[in-house]
Amino acid sequence: MSNPKVTLPFPREPKYGRAEKDAVLKLLDAGHLSEINRGPATNALEAAFARLAGTRHALSFNSGTASLHAALHAVGANPEAGVAVSPMTWISAITAVYQAGSYPVFCDIEPDSPNITAPAVAQIAVQCSAVLATHTWGIPARMDRLTKATDLPIVEDCSHAHGAVYQGRAVGSWGAAGCFSLQESKSVSGGEGGVLTTSDREIYERALTLGHHPARLAAELTLPELKPLADTGAAYKYRMPALSAVIARQQLRTLPDRMLAAEQNLSTLRKALEEYDAPITWPEIGELSVRGWYGTPLTINVRVPDPKTLHEKCRAAGVPLRAQYEDWTQTPLLQRPDLAARYWPHLADSPYQPPTRDELPNYYKALRQMIVLKVPQIPAADYMEQVAEALATVLMRTVLTA
Ligand SMILES: *Cc1c(COP(=O)(O)O)cnc(C)c1O
Repeated sequence: MSNPKVTLPFPREPKYGRAEKDAVLKLLDAGHLSEINRGPATNALEAAFARLAGTRHALSFNSGTASLHAALHAVGANPEAGVAVSPMTWISAITAVYQAGSYPVFCDIEPDSPNITAPAVAQIAVQCSAVLATHTWGIPARMDRLTKATDLPIVEDCSHAHGAVYQGRAVGSWGAAGCFSLQESKSVSGGEGGVLTTSDREIYERALTLGHHPARLAAELTLPELKPLADTGAAYKYRMPALSAVIARQQLRTLPDRMLAAEQNLSTLRKALEEYDAPITWPEIGELSVRGWYGTPLTINVRVPDPKTLHEKCRAAGVPLRAQYEDWTQTPLLQRPDLAARYWPHLADSPYQPPTRDELPNYYKALRQMIVLKVPQIPAADYMEQVAEALATVLMRTVLTA
C-alpha cells in the first residue's frame, strides 16, 4: 500500500459573504455602531437567538466569556460553593467561574462522549452552587441525565453547538441558561461576541445588570430587588458592538445549510472508514437529536501508544485535525491558588482544591485515544473520501502495528 494523502484543499467558502458585507455597509450608512439600548441590530440578533434556542429571552454580549460570567452570576455562583465544570473545554469557560466569584470543581467526562458525566455531577453536587455543562465539539451533553442527577441550576456552554438539538429540544433551552460564543472560529461568527439564552425572567434581568448600559437597564428591569441598580448596573462593559450583531445575524441564516452539508460529509467519511475497518468509535448523538459543528471527536478503540506521533502523521497525510485543548487542570493557574488570587482575591481563602489527575480517568483516556476532525460545511464528498483513505492508512500503520 502506498502513502495516500489528502491532495484536495480543505473545502470552504469565504467566511463572510455578500450578505454580511451588505449588512455592514447598511449599518455604516445608518451611522450607529454602538447601541446602548436594545437597538435594531441587537434586537434582530437577540430575537433570532431566542428562536434558535426556543427560549423567551436572549441577551447579547461582546464575548462568549462575558455571557458565561453573566449566566454564572445570574444563577447564584458564590465564593462558598463551587461550580461543576468539564476539563475538556476552552480555558475561559473555567476562568469565568472565578470571574463570577466562585471556583471550579472538575467532573470527569463520559467514557463514550466528550461531555461531563451525570454520576460525577451527582457526586460533587453538595459542594456546588451550579453546573456548567459544555456541549463539547458540538456533541450535545446528555441533558436528561444531568437534570436528573442534580437540582442545581445548569448553565449550558453552547459555544461549539449552535443549532444543536438534544432529544427534540434545542441546546440552550435545557438548562437555566445557555451561552453561545460568536468568536470567529465558531460556526456562527460575529468576529467576536456572545449570546445568553434563558426563559427565566429573573436570570435574564440579573444577567443584564452585570454589563449592559443603564439606558437598557432602565428600560427593562422589573424586579424590585434589581431596580435600585437601574442607574448603574455593575458597569462591566459587556454589550455587543452592532457590527458583530449584524454579521452574526447573517451567519445564522446560512447555518442550517452548513449543518446539513457537514452532516452529509461526516456520513460519507463514516461509510468509507467502515469499509476500511478502521478501529474508530463514533460519537453517539441519540434519538431526535442534531449535533452542532466545531470538531468531530473520534475515539480510536485500540491503544494509542503515542498520541503526538499519531497527530503528526495525520497532519502529514493532510487529515484535517483540530488542535485539542491543553490540559488546563495541571497548569499553574489551576494548581496554584496564590497565582489565581492575583486576579480573583476570593481564592486566597477558598475551599478550592487543585484538581488531581486520578479524579479524571475518562478525560485522560480521551486525551490519549481521541482525535478531533474538522468537517467542511459545504458539500465535499471527494474530499471526505480522500480523508478516509488517508486516515485509515495512518491508523493501520501507527496503531494497529505498534
Ligand atoms: C470559544 C469558547 C468560549 C469563549 O468564547 P469567547 O467568545 O472567545 O469569549 C467559551 N467556551 C467554549 C467551549 C468556547 O469554545
